[in-house]
Amino acid sequence: MTITRRTALALAGSMGAASLIGCDDKGEAGFDARAEASVDAGSNEAGTPNCTLYPEQVEGPYFVDGGLLRQDITDGKPGTPLTLVLQVVRAGACTPMPNVAVDVWHCDALGVYSGFPGQLGGLDTRGQAFLRGSQMTDTSGQVTFTTIYPGWYPGRTTHIHFKVRPTSRTAATSQLYFPEPLNDAVYAQNSPYNSRGAKDTTNTRDGANRQTGVPPMPVIEAVAEGFVARFVVAVAG
Ligand code: FE
Repeated sequence: MTITRRTALALAGSMGAASLIGCDDKGEAGFDARAEASVDAGSNEAGTPNCTLYPEQVEGPYFVDGGLLRQDITDGKPGTPLTLVLQVVRAGACTPMPNVAVDVWHCDALGVYSGFPGQLGGLDTRGQAFLRGSQMTDTSGQVTFTTIYPGWYPGRTTHIHFKVRPTSRTAATSQLYFPEPLNDAVYAQNSPYNSRGAKDTTNTRDGANRQTGVPPMPVIEAVAEGFVARFVVAVAG
């Protein structure tokens, strides 16, 4: 059984409201994000932006600086289709930032990263690059990745790592999270996520989030197959 469109839209509605976050002027980090104010399904238009400081978070052990420029990072991995739309804007002015490199990487539906030995189940994925990729933002500051909904691994909540590189010498690294009702629904109902038990760490109990607070969530839209997650990242300077 998979999530029905009706169920998914109901989830998306509640999540959209949760993503409306207030302004925050803590200026110490060079890295902000704002959630799109618009929660209309099917709309890519941001309404009046609510700007909030987005915390930089740990890079984690599984980053690969592979220079793998590609839009579709799936590499045949099974899972619920996810279109990840990231828009990079300049903080304050909120103007789009074109030609910025954006890297994303995340684990597969079973919690396994590509490119490393000692993965869950004793897997050695060296030589593989699934669910990793980089793109340059377009004139609207946007990149769109085709991927699958991330799985989970012990000790962490569901997340996607990302790195934004405004110049060749500057970078900001953080992680993107998903609303728990959506995590729960995907993991309980969709294959192959539902071949595992329940994940052991929630957004609020996650170690990275205990240091920074839970960052704002992307705006989620349910589509015919899977989801679209839209996220705006504001970079200072
Ligand atoms: Fe991770």
